[in-house]
Amino acid sequence: MNLPAYFVASILGLLFGSFLNVVIYRLPREESIVTPGSHCPHCNTPLTAGELIPVISYLIQKGRCKTCDAQISSRYPLVELATALFVTFQFHYLGPSLPFLFFGSMTLILVAMTMIDYDLQIIPDELNVLLLVLGVVYLLAVRLPEVGLRGLLPNLVGFLVGGGLFLLIAVLSGGGMGGGDVKLMAVMGLWFGWKLLLVLMFLSFISGAVISLFLLATKIKGRKDAIPFGPFIALAAYLTSIYGPSILAWYPYL
Ligand SMILES: [Zn+2]
Repeated sequence: MNLPAYFVASILGLLFGSFLNVVIYRLPREESIVTPGSHCPHCNTPLTAGELIPVISYLIQKGRCKTCDAQISSRYPLVELATALFVTFQFHYLGPSLPFLFFGSMTLILVAMTMIDYDLQIIPDELNVLLLVLGVVYLLAVRLPEVGLRGLLPNLVGFLVGGGLFLLIAVLSGGGMGGGDVKLMAVMGLWFGWKLLLVLMFLSFISGAVISLFLLATKIKGRKDAIPFGPFIALAAYLTSIYGPSILAWYPYL
């Protein structure tokens, strides 16, 4: 175990998580994610450098704004902690490598997508486009030198299968699956190739079924509430980036 590397990975995860909180709030509202700097949502006082320290500042201030004493949602530090946890766990499996750089970035985008889809039942096109561009760069910079141009064919097939199959599901389900989900599955197909995409789809349906049943059984969600599917695709993509190849190895005929 290379402890300093894990430490750096988790600190970076916290800092990126703090930035994701800004993205999650501002992107769907079409506000700039750069200016103005972060401010208290209640009294609009700009946050000082000290108040921007992820998690710690929240704990020191006991979850309240220093200026107006308003309660700050615990979701901000939770998103920071979750991001750090996801990235560090992924680092453990992928190591200090180019794939980690790309899949770690994918994880950050997926965290933002998950929260926005959970809040508003939309997946912003900007995030899908960002994933698409990042995926193309990943294929050209990492995969192409390893597998050659022909070796990228499964990724093209994955793009078409992912988009096509989910478009069909979206049409058949009559609105249960949205356009954002269709685009996300196409982009995931491109990243992973069609074989790992099958693993991803399987994991997304399983986690979707289990978690939805849990939400209904515990009455957190009612029968008529919409449960967005984007977060399950995101969770499945994250798991596939780590366990996908080992799961695929159970099916040698694929
Ligand atoms: Zn305030």
